[in-house]
Amino acid sequence: MQPIQMAGPWITEHEERIVLDALRNGWYGPQAYHYVETFQREFARYHDRAHALMTPNCTTAIHLLLAGLGVGAGDEVIVPDCTWIATAAPITYVQATPVFCDIDPHNWCLDPAAVEARLTERTKAIIAVDLFGNMADWDALRAIADRRGLILIEDAAEALGSTYRGVRAGKFGVGSVFSFHRTKTLTTGEGGMLLLDDEALFERCKFLRDHGRAEGRMYYNIEVTFKYMPFNLQAALGYAQFQRLNELVERKRWILDRYRTNLADIPDLHFNAEPDHVFNAVWGPTLVFGSSHGMTKDRAIAELAELGLPARPFFYPLSSLPAYAGYNEQGRQFAPVAYDVSSRGITLPAALIITEAEIDAVCDGLRRVLRS
Ligand SMILES: *Cc1c(COP(=O)(O)O)cnc(C)c1O
Repeated sequence: MQPIQMAGPWITEHEERIVLDALRNGWYGPQAYHYVETFQREFARYHDRAHALMTPNCTTAIHLLLAGLGVGAGDEVIVPDCTWIATAAPITYVQATPVFCDIDPHNWCLDPAAVEARLTERTKAIIAVDLFGNMADWDALRAIADRRGLILIEDAAEALGSTYRGVRAGKFGVGSVFSFHRTKTLTTGEGGMLLLDDEALFERCKFLRDHGRAEGRMYYNIEVTFKYMPFNLQAALGYAQFQRLNELVERKRWILDRYRTNLADIPDLHFNAEPDHVFNAVWGPTLVFGSSHGMTKDRAIAELAELGLPARPFFYPLSSLPAYAGYNEQGRQFAPVAYDVSSRGITLPAALIITEAEIDAVCDGLRRVLRS
């Protein structure tokens, strides 16, 4: 039997055709950026945003946005304690200070009440994350940001295709970012996108993306900036995948549904939240064992591994990691829900090529682990 894959793409002849076209024709004149321009334009339109800038990955998209906004030394930026480190690392790149906040026990995203408790006069921005495809409480977060004059940013890397009150993930805050990493719903291998509405901010980020060049004057740089340019082949793959987005999202939703249905008879298991006002595109089907099971993520993952079944830990609270040594005490004090939920959560295999039989094998494994 082939090993069951945690995450990975679904590539068809459609992608092959478009990438081959870029490989054959995408090198000279306007063809050199044809797929970059097309993908950016279509991706922005789909999300009802005025502008899109493709980047080498999502981490660089966040860095570009923070730099474009002028976030820097002395500023505090609020982030949820449970997310991939890519959300927070760019805060350090611009010499600002990350402030880790607690998550909501139901949607696992940034808890607005916890944000209130951590605001100071140095708070400059809030980055909220749509974790695993779940949507953050955007109404409440926007109210806080508006009241305090804070910058609100959306990390939608895991939520392509999700909606909140009918509005797509990618339309919240001054800017939203996406990842097209190999493991994400839509992939270019490595890749990212920054979505914006504000014209001046777009021009600034575009300038910062390519060595601070002057308009219309060759090799003439106004500032020392970054080189975060996308590549046409990468964009061709992204554009081809984007044309199949509904299919990819439906597949992700089917995977979660299959786990949920198979395990429906076991009480006190908690999966990705989908309240009435949310359409969840389920990048990562995630299972949090209710406290009644007395199950930890470490034990579940180890016992599943013994059965030859993969699973990944719920994101660790960032404040608990060696990378953020010095934040541990703060995290335990201010983010108790993050520590608790994270200790009981695992992400289930969800490669887009996973089969029903493989999902059922994982469910059988989970039953054995819960009985042991
Ligand atoms: C994957 C991911 C990122 C980073 O994406 P890269 O393209 O690898 O830089 C950022 N935030 C979240 C929430 C992610 O899941």
